[in-house]
Amino acid sequence: MALIVQKYGGTSVGSVERIQAVAQRVKRWRDAGNSLVVVVSAMSGETDRLLGLAKAIQNPPSPRELDVLLSTGEQVTIALLSMALEQIGCPARSYTGAQVRIRTDSAHNKARIQEIDGARIRADLQAGRVVVVAGFQGVDEAGNITTLGRGGSDTSAVAVAAALKAEECQIYTDVDGVYTTDPRIEPRARKLNRITFEEMLEMASLGSKVLQIRAVEFAGKYRVPLRVLSSFGEGEGTLITFEEDIVEQAVISGIAFAKDEAKLTIVGVPDQPGIAHRILGPIAEANIEVDMIVQNIGADGTTTDFTFTVHRNDYERALSILQSTADALGARAVDGDDRIVKISLVGVGMRSHAGIASKMFAALAKEGINIRMISTSEIKISVVVDEKYLELGVRALHQAFGLEKESG
Ligand code: ADP
Ligand code: ASP
Ligand code: MG
Repeated sequence: MALIVQKYGGTSVGSVERIQAVAQRVKRWRDAGNSLVVVVSAMSGETDRLLGLAKAIQNPPSPRELDVLLSTGEQVTIALLSMALEQIGCPARSYTGAQVRIRTDSAHNKARIQEIDGARIRADLQAGRVVVVAGFQGVDEAGNITTLGRGGSDTSAVAVAAALKAEECQIYTDVDGVYTTDPRIEPRARKLNRITFEEMLEMASLGSKVLQIRAVEFAGKYRVPLRVLSSFGEGEGTLITFEEDIVEQAVISGIAFAKDEAKLTIVGVPDQPGIAHRILGPIAEANIEVDMIVQNIGADGTTTDFTFTVHRNDYERALSILQSTADALGARAVDGDDRIVKISLVGVGMRSHAGIASKMFAALAKEGINIRMISTSEIKISVVVDEKYLELGVRALHQAFGLEKESG
């Protein structure tokens, strides 16, 4: 008897009918002789709705109270799914994160899972029940409800699978697997049967929202076999593999993009040791995450221009901090742009192939797309371009690297 953890996202539990369809699927897996733990998200749109309510009263909302509020979305679905299961003769029991004891740190709205007590779940499985667990939420040491950040139910599922040493963690969503790029942007995107863990980690961290990045990190750390598949149909989905030697590995596996980027430049700062620290120190202290960094030598040889990117939500804050830094350093100017996006090519094949970057730049140039920043690592190349070029850029690269479906 295999232990399977399944996770169903918002769209997959978006209505009574969808919840009933999930119950049928769970029952089929159980009737086939498996033990099932099911992690669910809130019904689609619910987390946004709750967030809207909170902001109408307090903006930004109190992080602690926001977690109390947002966690109710998942509490609704666990109860409804358990009822739907019982209704079709499948014994089930639902638990909130706190009831399981999914213990997290105390970083409200972006908590990290530290420990999961599997005892209660195991006892129910032993008694022949399906266990339905609320995703996205946990409880800290002091008993406060926490949430794991948007898309966090993926991480709940992988963490539960790791704690219970499940045979497989299946992430059911509204697409039938991981594609070469978001099929909403490029309808000719192709489903991948397999993707390496490393590539999936890059895709997720570079903006592909199909899996939350922490879920992929968790899967890597505990070697959880992870699969992404559709809750609307059948099929094998995409397996995230730990093997390096996939036969006939394509050079590029996929294209990720991040829409919510912003860039800031401080112009004409003295070119001397410690300057990067003087500029980025205050940004880090304000808990703003910096992504790409570029430093240019200024035309006069004694000053430099320094550019970096942050999440768009942090743009205004970063801009005002940078302005103070500029005043203190006697810099010439501060400049910013929050209408930019980042597009990235990902593929382990880049390690053994030259010329990927120049091919990428050529494809973008052909469409008249100006590259504002570039950053590379062993298995990815990212460019920052103006927001208006997002779709054109993704499609041009998708075609240039031959990622389309055969029937194209
Ligand atoms: P869920 O509510 O099930 O967690 P999400 O909306 O979080 O679903 O994730 C699924 C969505 O991820 C898809 O509808 C798709 O638009 C988007 N997506 C982004 N990049 C990719 C990709 N490379 N492959 C598949 N889906 C992707
Ligand atoms: N309901 C939460 C969200 O919308 C968590 C999730 O769906 O994974 O972000
Ligand atoms: Mg999701």
